[in-house]
Amino acid sequence: MRKYFILPLLMLICMVPFISAQAASSTEITSVRTATRNDANTPFVRTVLDISGKVNPRLFIDKTGRYVTVTLPNTKIAKGVDTECSSNRNVVSDITLTQRSSGTDINFKVPHAVTKDDLKVFTLPGTDNAKSASRVVIDINDKSGKIKQWRHWDDDKIGIASTTKDKNNQLKQSAVSNAATIPSYAGSQSYNLTKGLKGKVICVDPGHGGTDSGAIGAKSQEKNITLAISKRVASLLTNAGATVVMTRTTDVDVYAPNDGAVEELQARCNIANAAKADVFVCIHIDSFSTADAGGVTAYYNSKTPYDYGLAKYIHDQNMQATSFPDRGVQTANFYVLLHTNMPATLLELGFISNPAEEDALNTEAQQQNFAESIVKGLADYFDHNGN
Ligand SMILES: [Zn+2]
Repeated sequence: MRKYFILPLLMLICMVPFISAQAASSTEITSVRTATRNDANTPFVRTVLDISGKVNPRLFIDKTGRYVTVTLPNTKIAKGVDTECSSNRNVVSDITLTQRSSGTDINFKVPHAVTKDDLKVFTLPGTDNAKSASRVVIDINDKSGKIKQWRHWDDDKIGIASTTKDKNNQLKQSAVSNAATIPSYAGSQSYNLTKGLKGKVICVDPGHGGTDSGAIGAKSQEKNITLAISKRVASLLTNAGATVVMTRTTDVDVYAPNDGAVEELQARCNIANAAKADVFVCIHIDSFSTADAGGVTAYYNSKTPYDYGLAKYIHDQNMQATSFPDRGVQTANFYVLLHTNMPATLLELGFISNPAEEDALNTEAQQQNFAESIVKGLADYFDHNGN
């Protein structure tokens, strides 16, 4: 009797690592590329990994600051992907991918010690070209001082409303777009934290637009709901005496039709940075693969001491303005949260994939409720001086 018990037990023990190894291998790294970017205030090397699923990157820097590791849990290196890459050796001596049972390590050896202030790690949606579900972006600043910053901008107002380009020009530019055509503004840190909405410069960013519809529901598209709510926010803020800068006011791409996510998102950051906005509020509608997921989230990244306060004050008011579930205030490495110079929040105001929430989001009543709650939250933020 005992023997018969042990055999299945042994089989089970043997199968557990097998099962977990199988699960870990479902998300693959399908390509790796690097580029030197001299368009930022500090030049940097960008490494981009295409991933077949969603991933939560983790960053480690060793004590010497000479070894940087980004871990991608539960990922596997796809067949044919080079596990060693070369890059600009002023910034990164070498890049190696190491397969571990728990995931993949991307190891960077750097010639000049770095701290976490020299690094940015964030995720972007995937690209159709690469057939990826998401991208992991790792930026490492140049500490050698050998990479010259490009200062000859022909186009330092990309995406800024006053410079309108005809569509052909935009398309052409998008086709040849490379890192060097995207400008960056100095980290001004001139944002205002005094009480009251009056006189504040508030950048409102309606998510998606134009060729990018965002998430699609049964009867509506994210880009239209974000714009409808944003316009209501803008008019309430204007009435309260604030100066509103919108990244778009119609159904358009901010940078160019069919552009890349980085160009598009940087164009939105440029508008806020150039306007020296006091805060940046980015409005999105969430989506999930099943209809039952729902609720409201506010995302922030603590790049300033005030990003959390901004997200929290607005989120608290948003939860008064809806019966959608509360998904809380969460930290995220979203591009616009990292590349704006002022406190920023990205709001996900319910799920377009949830039929009840989609219905509500398409009513003027819910759009107005959210617009009012966002403005109340902004007033709370300034009344507490961002704290
Ligand atoms: Zn969105």
